[in-house]
Amino acid sequence: MTKQAAFPAAEDALAAAAPATQQQPGRRFTSFPPPSWARGACRKAAAAQVAVADHLGAVAAAGGARTTAAAGSWLDSVVMAAASPRHADWLEKHPSALAGFETVLAAAEGKQIVMFLDYDGTLSPIVRDPDSAVMTDEMREAVRGVAEHFPTAIVSGRCRDKVFNFVKLAELYYAGSHGMDIKGPTAQCKHTKANAGAVMWQPASDFLPVIEEVYHALTAKMESIPGATVEDNKFCLSVHFRCVQEEKWGALDDQVRSVLKDYPGLRLTKGRKVLEIRPSIKWDKGNALEFLLESLGFADSSDVFPIYIGDDRTDEDAFKVLRNMGQGIGILVTKIPKETSASYSLREPSEVKEFLHKLVKSTGTR
Ligand SMILES: [Mg+2]
Repeated sequence: MTKQAAFPAAEDALAAAAPATQQQPGRRFTSFPPPSWARGACRKAAAAQVAVADHLGAVAAAGGARTTAAAGSWLDSVVMAAASPRHADWLEKHPSALAGFETVLAAAEGKQIVMFLDYDGTLSPIVRDPDSAVMTDEMREAVRGVAEHFPTAIVSGRCRDKVFNFVKLAELYYAGSHGMDIKGPTAQCKHTKANAGAVMWQPASDFLPVIEEVYHALTAKMESIPGATVEDNKFCLSVHFRCVQEEKWGALDDQVRSVLKDYPGLRLTKGRKVLEIRPSIKWDKGNALEFLLESLGFADSSDVFPIYIGDDRTDEDAFKVLRNMGQGIGILVTKIPKETSASYSLREPSEVKEFLHKLVKSTGTR
């Protein structure tokens, strides 16, 4: 395999900055590093942001009546429009779940909402140190509110115990290790099923000794790559390179592949500044979503409205399942246009929190 396969798409900002004439529908960047035209477009977009921000700063200094918060929000949208002309087109296909909230609500009318939430980048911001990706108390309250009304699951690439320690809500379902480790709520709630609290599904148990072996091998290899860290997520591993200098990404890729060549039962995928190593069984976040719906008694039901919110490529498996089902909605958390099977979008975790609050408020009054 080549180095390019480990980095199947260029960085997020480059996807946003690609000129419309060169970024064909359905096209992903396949080269690594990205082509020069993309890097140039990225620089132009950044320059446009600075120019617009400077102009708006001058307007604000001249005594504009907007509040700081409102101006910030307004500024964000103006900057986005100026920096990325394609964004308006993209938003037509993947509208904001806040702007389109009434449409979402109408589609869910009379159906049981089931909420699926990714963790990193969805409930917590992406941070340099993955162990510091805590969620705010306000976000926790928003998730707690949702769980009071609807069956709610956290679906994460993280180890189940680790993501539970971040979220700390016993009334949720947790699907860790990209859905390969699923457990029901440990606290009694109205959505709890008879078998809840028990481990419900661990399809990759046979891989545990291999994963542990590879974890130690990768940890040793990464000692030569400053900033690289290996996270043990029980049934899968994550090699984080958020803190690695870009010149070292190729070496990191080589090192990871040199370990994995001896383990054909494992596969490599890429997330946001992370390489994911997983058992090569057909089980992903989409399968986890289907499993949980079935466990909740909604297999083949037309009365269910699953909502899945996530920010990463691994969430696309769940978005695709929902698209194929023709039920519910996928919501991609992103500030920039990306290829996605999600039907709606939100810009960042703070908007996810707002969406969850609105959902609780609206359904509580119906
Ligand atoms: Mg995520």
